[in-house]
Amino acid sequence: MLFVQKYGGTSLADAERIRKAARRAAGLARQGNQVVVVVSAQGDTTDLLIEKAAQVNRRGAAREMDAYLAAGEQMAAGLMAMAIGAMGYPAVSLTGWQAGIDTDGVHGNARILNVDTGRIRRELEAGKVVVVAGFQGRDPEGDITTLGRGGSDTTAVALAGFLHADKCQIFTDVDGVYDRDPRLYPDAVRFGRISYEAMLKLIENGAQVLHDRSVELARQFGIGVEVLSAFTGEPGTLVGDSE
Ligand code: ADP
Ligand code: ASP
Ligand code: MG
Repeated sequence: MLFVQKYGGTSLADAERIRKAARRAAGLARQGNQVVVVVSAQGDTTDLLIEKAAQVNRRGAAREMDAYLAAGEQMAAGLMAMAIGAMGYPAVSLTGWQAGIDTDGVHGNARILNVDTGRIRRELEAGKVVVVAGFQGRDPEGDITTLGRGGSDTTAVALAGFLHADKCQIFTDVDGVYDRDPRLYPDAVRFGRISYEAMLKLIENGAQVLHDRSVELARQFGIGVEVLSAFTGEPGTLVGDSE
């Protein structure tokens, strides 16, 4: 089976959490699966980078902001590949552009147009876990783009779609999708399954648990997306229309 697993910032916040995710990916690979891991920047790195940029230029050029912000995910990807390597499993990290993620040129909110999967395929066939930096791609000029806040989800779904993955799993800091933010409403109810349409409605109403474009892409590809806890790995919510 080919798995695409995405880990959000909180799920990678420190070395122990990175090792936990690395263990899960390496375990799957050891069982004979092909595994692509998509990572967000660690913790609140992206917010910190935005603050730092503002200290030198409150209205920095969008192209330069992308060049700067993309570094957060690159660092996480390198760390994750090293963590998997430390477990005795070969892994390789790729930036969005190395991974063949082509976007339009809208800096700060770029849309994925295509994924040239050649490099990822070669690395998987060489028996490696492939770690891809989320949230980023390259535009037709070859410049670095970012996909908008929360965009690593969309990286994962695009990779799952273009690679024809068997599973697309979004690991996060809650154990699924609820009818309301479970952090604010302790009586929120978790969905076992939710349709693309209903998920998009939730997002429209402010649920940032998934990037809206990731759900639109999943619907286009017709792939189910599992949202589950990075801490327990227990089944969470399946976003999709049918089995
Ligand atoms: P990640 O860093 O893993 O991408 P996000 O912070 O982007 O995580 O998304 C997860 C957060 O989404 C949760 O911590 C939760 O507070 C929030 N959230 C808001 N609305 C919902 C909802 N309806 N169901 C689940 N989580 C929600
Ligand atoms: N690190 C980026 C952000 O904070 C992308 C992501 O987390 O998906 O928005
Ligand atoms: Mg997110």
